[in-house]
Amino acid sequence: KSWTAEDEAIIATNTDATECKRCAVELGYWKDDYISYFAKHADRKAPEINRGYYARVRAMEIFIHQFLERCGTKCQIINLGCGFDTLYWRLKDTTQAVGNFIELDFPAVTSKKCHIIKRNKQLLEKISNEDGEVMIREGDLHSDGYHLLGCDLRCLAEVRRKLASAGASAAPALLLAECVLVYLRPDAADALLRHLADSFPRCALLVYEQCNLGDQFGAVMVRNLMARGCVLEGPRLARAPAEQAAGLRALGFEQARAWDMEAVWRSFPDEDRARVEALEMLDERELLLQLNSHYALCVATRGDIFADMDLNA
Ligand code: SAM
Repeated sequence: KSWTAEDEAIIATNTDATECKRCAVELGYWKDDYISYFAKHADRKAPEINRGYYARVRAMEIFIHQFLERCGTKCQIINLGCGFDTLYWRLKDTTQAVGNFIELDFPAVTSKKCHIIKRNKQLLEKISNEDGEVMIREGDLHSDGYHLLGCDLRCLAEVRRKLASAGASAAPALLLAECVLVYLRPDAADALLRHLADSFPRCALLVYEQCNLGDQFGAVMVRNLMARGCVLEGPRLARAPAEQAAGLRALGFEQARAWDMEAVWRSFPDEDRARVEALEMLDERELLLQLNSHYALCVATRGDIFADMDLNA
């Protein structure tokens, strides 16, 4: 299959996200022993960017933790547009390793990730089967409990087939969409989410993406996104967080809540914020505020055990 220039630009967003994460980790924003395998170097980013990434990663972690608290390790995590996310390895180092961890991204991304895993013992030793083997089948990596699959999320038939090949089941599922859905056309994103809501009677979906893009600051973000291959049709990203949550309920999730990242940041414990604020001086407090109010985290769930997941739960 050949990729369009738009696809290439989208694929490159993973490099950018990985480098930003590596930069913030090096500066002490959070700990990640694995990110440096996936980004060989990272130029220093602006403090506002580092702070934004901290809130993003920390917020995802809070809800990942809440999910695991509620269903234990007999569950699955499905990482949509996983990029070079290191969550699998970070969880392996805790007591919270999950039953089945499935990662999906374009084959151009998963094949690179696969290559990096195979080259680095510290990554490989945490995924191999008891006999120390991993299996590569049709370019996808399969092992007991970890699957890395090349897949176009715009193609539902492929998503279905790939999830089945990785042993996805009706067990409680955590669905992650960190800065991914924005790269799908709204109708494709909706179809994907509707399918997932329909397939997993007990699940929690975390969506981190842009919001409130209807204003002037948002217009600049829209231009940047379009330069990165997004096809932004319709008012989806102009929506405020509450409307995004309503959108997820309309697609089949029973509960959905959303917060802009300013609210997320303010919900962090005082000592957390104080520690992070001491890491770097902010040149432009106003810029951070603008950025924070143009990103949102949505949590949508099905099943009673997840109904009380909340920012301050
Ligand atoms: N979730 C990761 C993170 O937050 O670090 C990566 C985010 S990166 C900004 C977006 C990712 O979504 C890229 O790796 C890209 O290849 C993937 N992606 C975008 N559209 C996709 C599609 N149609 N099918 C599969 N992956 C896609």
